[in-house]
Amino acid sequence: MTPYSIWILEYAFIPECPLSSLVYGRHNQGTVKLPYGYVLIKGNGQTILVDCGYDHESVGRKFGEFYGVQNWRSPRDVLAEVGLTPEQIGHVIITHAHFDHMGGLALFPNAKFYIQEREISRWIWAMSLERRLRWLMTAGDPSDIIKAVELARDGRLVTLKGDVEDLFPGIDVRYAEDSHTPGSQYVVIRNDGLRASKDPYVCTGDLIYRHENLHGGTPEDPYFIPVGLAIGSQVNLIMTADSILKAANGDTKRVLAPHEENMPSLYPSRKSRHGLQLMEVSLAPGERSAVA
Ligand SMILES: [Zn+2]
Repeated sequence: MTPYSIWILEYAFIPECPLSSLVYGRHNQGTVKLPYGYVLIKGNGQTILVDCGYDHESVGRKFGEFYGVQNWRSPRDVLAEVGLTPEQIGHVIITHAHFDHMGGLALFPNAKFYIQEREISRWIWAMSLERRLRWLMTAGDPSDIIKAVELARDGRLVTLKGDVEDLFPGIDVRYAEDSHTPGSQYVVIRNDGLRASKDPYVCTGDLIYRHENLHGGTPEDPYFIPVGLAIGSQVNLIMTADSILKAANGDTKRVLAPHEENMPSLYPSRKSRHGLQLMEVSLAPGERSAVA
């Protein structure tokens, strides 16, 4: 395989999000910017997204307004910044079923989607419970689950069971059961193709919101703090954080967390004409820079 080009594409943001919702226990410590984004991986004949945002012009709007999301832009606007259209996306790996990660299913008409089997089945389970248990549906939109089931019927949703090596050449998915959600997964890109990669990148979904989840605010004496939302177990989140950091060879810069507001300072980046960040994590030989 040849190396992939990798970009993180911001598609909206929450200007003031309580830090306590992102880093467990950080109560009364103010607000931070929370970017919403997806990761684009291009190479080896594939155009892959990790997560697909949501549709603010459709049912997703009620969630966007509830959480105070601003400056939402469609995938057509966002992908134009790297010279692509939504129709050119062939595959979307869904880290988990929250609206800001899976609400864009209908916006990618030619894509095949990949999600953990437990993630989709447990959301259906949660939908079936009595109303007083509805916290279990936090940040999930039933219409997204129904859309996912329709895609399964149409042969466009693949359910995975646990870790998968080389879902695409050099791209693995890793399972994090009962963590942020019932069946979250994260993506490891081994960009040199080696099993013991010297050039890995990890797409975290919401298993890591901020690098602070990896160092606890004391990089000189780091410790893991779980993200501020666990439908599953904080123990599992801590152990997953450890696995993620190890998969990134211990380098937090290689941990690609779209909700981390400081990602643009770690890689060549620019603001789009819509005022959204575009970060160029890796540029394959022969590929044109989108930030130069
Ligand atoms: Zn999220």
